[in-house]
Amino acid sequence: MSRIVYVNGEYLPEEEATVSIFDRGFLMADAVYEVCSILDGKILEFEGHVARLHRSLNELQMPAPCTDEELLEIHRQLVAKNDLKEGGVYLQVTRGAADRDFAWSKDLKPTIVLFTQAKSIEHSPIGKTGIKVIAMDDLRWGRRDIKTVQLLYPSLCKMEAKARGKDDAWLVEDGFVTEGTSNNAWIVTRDGTIVTRDLSTDILHGITRASVMKYAKEAQMKVEERPFTIEEAQTAAEAFFTSASAFVTPVVEIEGVALGDGTPGPVAKRLREIYLAESRARAI
Ligand code: PMP
Repeated sequence: MSRIVYVNGEYLPEEEATVSIFDRGFLMADAVYEVCSILDGKILEFEGHVARLHRSLNELQMPAPCTDEELLEIHRQLVAKNDLKEGGVYLQVTRGAADRDFAWSKDLKPTIVLFTQAKSIEHSPIGKTGIKVIAMDDLRWGRRDIKTVQLLYPSLCKMEAKARGKDDAWLVEDGFVTEGTSNNAWIVTRDGTIVTRDLSTDILHGITRASVMKYAKEAQMKVEERPFTIEEAQTAAEAFFTSASAFVTPVVEIEGVALGDGTPGPVAKRLREIYLAESRARAI
């Protein structure tokens, strides 16, 4: 079924939506993106995603394509026009179209594209079963805190994981896990401390990561922000990952080593429930 998508001010059937072949998003990955999850036809974590969008735009000296109020209205219109109950809204902003040149002109008009994806996210099978991850060298660029569309290396890692019969890869740099291909990585130590890497330019500052950390602290859980190795993760009590579209999802195997009894642990399960309840209550 054809969706209604949004391109530069217009709501169009997806077959009629186009951007220029000279768009710098297409030619140079000169673009940033965000994905908001939708549950019960409502948007989760809108404020956090918009704040991070501004951060990414600022870091790349790109102007905002419209106001935050307009962005919210576009999200709501797309959810309504596509009768979306559960899934996500993808948003991409590029620097705009210009004859190919590494240097850009400051007066380019940004391209803005949004589309919906209907998907079962609350009851997705991996939320129950957990996933198996492999380790891969983190060969991405040095500004992973900016949410750009340079997703080729993470895609290669995901394909490598699938080729090895697993689900995803955790990326490793200088001996420590940075994050997953499209998510933040966490472990639970044997004394019950929840550990995730501290924020820097090495990882994306996950919106789900921030919320889960807040809720965990509110639930009196001990949280530590520090790097950890694959070996520490393999001997941890539990592991899980966070992302906007998968919430809190258990990790049950790392580089061929099963964690605990190889099934999702209680902390990941509890945090998934808390996260879902809290974000549902705050959805707009
Ligand atoms: N790290 C990377 C590399 C990602 O692509 C994502 C998902 N966009 C995340 C972390 C998780 O971020 P969020 O919780 O904001 O979806």
